[in-house]
Amino acid sequence: MRILITGGAGFIGSHLCEELIKKGNQVICMDNFITGDKKNINHLFPSPNFQFIEHNVTEHIDIPWGLDYILHFASPASPIDYIKFPIQTLKVGALGTHNTLGLSKTKKAKYLLASTSEVYGDPEVNPQSEEYWGNVNCIGPRGVYDEAKRFAEAMTMAYHRYHKLDTRIARIFNTYGPRMRLNDGRVVPTFINQALKEKPLTVFGNGEQTRSFCYISDLVEGILKLMDSPIHDPINLGNPQEMTILDFTKKILTITKSKSKILFKPLPEDDPKVRRPDISKAKNLLDWQPKVGIDEGLQKTIRHFREKII
Ligand code: UDP
Repeated sequence: MRILITGGAGFIGSHLCEELIKKGNQVICMDNFITGDKKNINHLFPSPNFQFIEHNVTEHIDIPWGLDYILHFASPASPIDYIKFPIQTLKVGALGTHNTLGLSKTKKAKYLLASTSEVYGDPEVNPQSEEYWGNVNCIGPRGVYDEAKRFAEAMTMAYHRYHKLDTRIARIFNTYGPRMRLNDGRVVPTFINQALKEKPLTVFGNGEQTRSFCYISDLVEGILKLMDSPIHDPINLGNPQEMTILDFTKKILTITKSKSKILFKPLPEDDPKVRRPDISKAKNLLDWQPKVGIDEGLQKTIRHFREKII
């Protein structure tokens, strides 16, 4: 297949480019490097099956070749990034989704939207199943991402229903692994960086809030299975192993053998108190579930960050 991946130079996008090339596809990677990084894709340039186009997908997209699949992964995705780029985040979720869906219609290509657990906002139910409609503050600082992705899902379903486009929606929960930016502000790279430098681990609030972390190779496998499936309704992809942020600091300190202390800082506005995916649907319909446990995944990730820091 010839596949266009928007946000292909980002953390998840670059892993997808790599995996889809390995499987014999032709990949066109598109990115404007607002939060993506050329270093993530440098190793792919020698492949005859890899092409790169620098472009902002909120502008009209022109591709002179046929396309079989479009994966729309472009977006700032960490809270500090989307608070730094609020308008771009809204535009890539809204205009970028519209442009990629339009392109998909023209090319008669299949389509997969990277959505997020943030559509559930600060959830009042735990775990979150796809049936839950969410609890989002549309005018809060995180609203720019949450609402953009909610709009993106609505637009994708509208193209599916009205234009009969062959679409899919992955609701991606916290994912981690090599190629995350050290300074992207998310808890995994931040704590690893702080632990390796023997600096205090900055825990927001009292650390009782929970998250569930999925290793990148598991997520990529889930996306590939979803691509091959005929499922148009949203599907949660994530690891249901839930832990408090405070327990997560203990894991990081044990694995890195760091002596860092813990520094409590104020909880950011609208920070979700709990997050855990109900993955029954993915298990039943895609025969998918994560295989990499948190210790193994963190060890691999920490190895990668050690090399970056040294
Ligand atoms: N967090 C923290 N310290 C940090 C960064 C994040 O305690 O230095 C917390 C944050 O408040 C949230 C959780 O870790 O409760 C996960 O944050 P992240 O930015 O990774 O993404 P989120 O899951 O909130 O989208």
